[in-house]
Amino acid sequence: MIDLHTHTTESDGTLSPVELLQLANTIGVEALAVTDHDTFAGHDQAALVKNAGLDLVRGIELSTRYKSRSVHLLAYFIKGQPPEGFSDWVAGLQASRKARNQELVAALQAKGIDITMAEVVQHGKKLPGRPHFAVLLLKKKYVTSIQRAFDEYLGESGVCYIPRDEPSLEEAVARIAAAGGLSSLAHPGRISRDPGVIEEYVRDMHKIGLHAIEAYHSEHHVRDVLLYTELASRYSLAITGGSDFHGEAKPLIALGTGCGHNLDINRSVLERLRLLA
Ligand code: AMP
Ligand code: ZN
Ligand code: FE
Ligand code: FE
Repeated sequence: MIDLHTHTTESDGTLSPVELLQLANTIGVEALAVTDHDTFAGHDQAALVKNAGLDLVRGIELSTRYKSRSVHLLAYFIKGQPPEGFSDWVAGLQASRKARNQELVAALQAKGIDITMAEVVQHGKKLPGRPHFAVLLLKKKYVTSIQRAFDEYLGESGVCYIPRDEPSLEEAVARIAAAGGLSSLAHPGRISRDPGVIEEYVRDMHKIGLHAIEAYHSEHHVRDVLLYTELASRYSLAITGGSDFHGEAKPLIALGTGCGHNLDINRSVLERLRLLA
């Protein structure tokens, strides 16, 4: 069992990189990619710990824009000293997240919600994101669940939605490749549930230079996995997979095994990916 999509307290997960590593070892995860949003810090801290037997992969998850949709990309194997430009570019993405967070606080305050940037930062610590806002809205009883915080306020159809200044998918794919990494389309099931739409996207993204598609993910049903696997082979893309573990921030998702044991990703997925790197 491997897991190539996880988050730590360096972004919006609730386990520290070291705790994540310990959990991975305890449950027998053979290979683990730490893919925090907009930062390598989670992976890099985990990499300082001696952990014989566990294959740790350097990853990152980036929010990009494609055909006016927000699309998440995973990048793997970008080295510690990426060619000049990639780290600065990622720092710019963090700045755009901070600017969005400021606007989001103002938008929520304008709706009469009692929330301050200081509270968000205190809660989100390293890299505050919308899940941290959602927890605060829940704690303050403005909503009855995390999902409702997104539906009513924070998500694309929420009243306080603030689009982020995201790079285009094309730019992100090109920068990842230039930095020696591989790009994978994260949780394609979230883009659309229409197989025709996904096929069109995957076909076009392959032409742009996308390397892989995340066929296995906690939110994918068996029929989704079959579709993404078939599309990957049709358009010559590799396959990746992971739980998108966030700890208590997404309590239904278990490391390695996903939602209700819907994942058991074979090590060969990573081995094939490595052949392309
Ligand atoms: P951010 O990176 O701060 O824009 O937050 C993005 C994160 O918020 C995603 O990785 C998801 O975990 C979560 N998220 C975004 N939209 C939704 C939604 N509609 N419902 C639930 N969670 C969402
Ligand atoms: Zn997240
Ligand atoms: Fe994502
Ligand atoms: Fe994720």
